[in-house]
Amino acid sequence: MAAAPLDLLVLGGGITGAAVARDAALRGLSVGLVSKGDFAGGTSSHSSRLIHGGLRYLEHGDLRLVFEASRERRVLLDTAPHLVHPLAFLFPAYRGARVAPWKIFAALWLYDVLAAFRNVHPHRWLSRRATRREEPGLREKGLAGAGRYWDAQTDDARLTLANLRAAAQAGALAANYVEATGLSKPDGQVAGATIRDQLTGETWTVRARTVVNATGPWVDSLRRLDDPAAPPLLRPTKGVHVVVPRARIGHTNAITLLSPVDGRVMFILPWGEVSYIGTTDTDDSGSPDEVRATGEDVIYLLRSANAVFPQARLAPKDVISTWAGLRPLLAPERTLSTAQVSREHRVVESQSGLITIAGGKLTTHRVMGRDVADRVAARLHEADGRPLAPRPPTDRLVLPGGDIADLEVLVESARGRDIPEPVARHLVRAYGSESAALVNLIERDRALGRPIIEGHPETWAEVVHGVEREMAMRLTDVLIRRTHLFYEDPGHGSSAAPPVARKMAELLDWDQGRETEEIADYLSEVQRAREFMTGVARASRVS
Ligand SMILES: Cc1cc2nc3c(=O)[nH]c(=O)nc-3n(C[C@H](O)[C@H](O)[C@H](O)COP(=O)(O)OP(=O)(O)OC[C@H]3O[C@@H](n4cnc5c(N)ncnc54)[C@H](O)[C@@H]3O)c2cc1C
Repeated sequence: MAAAPLDLLVLGGGITGAAVARDAALRGLSVGLVSKGDFAGGTSSHSSRLIHGGLRYLEHGDLRLVFEASRERRVLLDTAPHLVHPLAFLFPAYRGARVAPWKIFAALWLYDVLAAFRNVHPHRWLSRRATRREEPGLREKGLAGAGRYWDAQTDDARLTLANLRAAAQAGALAANYVEATGLSKPDGQVAGATIRDQLTGETWTVRARTVVNATGPWVDSLRRLDDPAAPPLLRPTKGVHVVVPRARIGHTNAITLLSPVDGRVMFILPWGEVSYIGTTDTDDSGSPDEVRATGEDVIYLLRSANAVFPQARLAPKDVISTWAGLRPLLAPERTLSTAQVSREHRVVESQSGLITIAGGKLTTHRVMGRDVADRVAARLHEADGRPLAPRPPTDRLVLPGGDIADLEVLVESARGRDIPEPVARHLVRAYGSESAALVNLIERDRALGRPIIEGHPETWAEVVHGVEREMAMRLTDVLIRRTHLFYEDPGHGSSAAPPVARKMAELLDWDQGRETEEIADYLSEVQRAREFMTGVARASRVS
């Protein structure tokens, strides 16, 4: 990256930066991307993992956003069928709730209209009895029926990686654990950045004709490297999820609910053997590096779920893990509640030419990447008269691993090569057609087909693949983002930490000191998570 000037340097390796890099590289521009932590280490691995039109935005009249997001849902279901899966939702309607049953009924119609009736399936209204049949655990009192509608679920961190890999395949250079610490402005115009390798401490200057700030909740602090007086673009809000064993709730569908605590829309979402409940939405002006769940967040989520599934009687001791992220939302011009702040995005150019992308959603990342790449292409055209790089057809180009519509074919092919069905399904869901590469690894070395942790379908082949093909550099990268064992395993994957570190040491040539340090860092993360939950359990009683 530092060897020759780039057309574009992207700062930030979340979904937004990844989408910008992909679009620009596909236009034939020379692109570099750096991210100060792991790829998707920020908000892009702490979302609700939904690719959705955003039913709840209808309440605020955000029709344009719902229309755009619904179209993107369609695009992603086609271009990343391995990572974006249709998900059936049930929205139970209760008499006397903040949103009356007829309003839910009407909203679901509008939701289908805004998707141009091209959602996975049209919505359906279920009677009270049909609702009970579908979800017997739902609170009976006041139940008027339910709307069944469709959205999609993804793996946010892996979707980000897929965009980055597509960018790399189109020629982009990408590096994680590399932070931009300053901007170079030789003649007052931004012409690159000083970057620091977080793992080695080395620094370089990267020269670039355009620089994009795609640092999500960090965009304002990065803008201040350019102009210390730059006004904030964001009003970030914190969102928390808790993970519980799915059997404790006993639900089949994804559930949309109105929290009885404050009437907010929330979700209970199935994810294999676990369910995650979220999210909160509270103003947060703290550092994005320090965002954490609090005991109150956990209690609020559990109480909300318990009110709708009374038999679940979820208590803090049931919580396997939590995650918290900051939404990089655009600051509104007038005072609004956190839930009303728009999820739309904006591209802003500073006096010195730094291009910042702020706001947006996981769902609309492709459009955000395109809008920024349009601006970059126009700037390069103005600067050196080169032809305007045309837009690539990202609405049709599949993401890596997505070049197969029928995933069952892949599952059958893996099973035919002696991969047990749960493992085959997991591999196909995570890697799509690239699961063949993992099956090849397992065929060459059967030990790689063993589970990393007994009872979970993640196999050792994923450690090798994560390091060799997905730039996993640290133990946390493998156990938290390439796989999600940290969140899904009741032991937070701690039993796997030493052997996975050993394997990574072999692959990455770590010395003993580095290996020990990686294990210690991971285990302190686990310890923090455990202490937090023990503290919440001690301090509270959930009604
Ligand atoms: C709780 C929650 C739930 C959500 N649920 C959904 C959902 O279900 N569906 C949906 O569509 N959207 C959802 N969103 C929104 C979506 O997750 C975010 O809009 C999106 O992930 C933001 O991505 P980003 O790339 O802009 O930011 P990030 O993912 O935070 O990426 C920014 C990156 O910049 C890097 N960085 C920071 N400073 C520097 C620097 N100086 N140099 C280099 N790199 C730097 C960071 O390391 C980070 O990786 C949710 C958000 C939250 C918080």
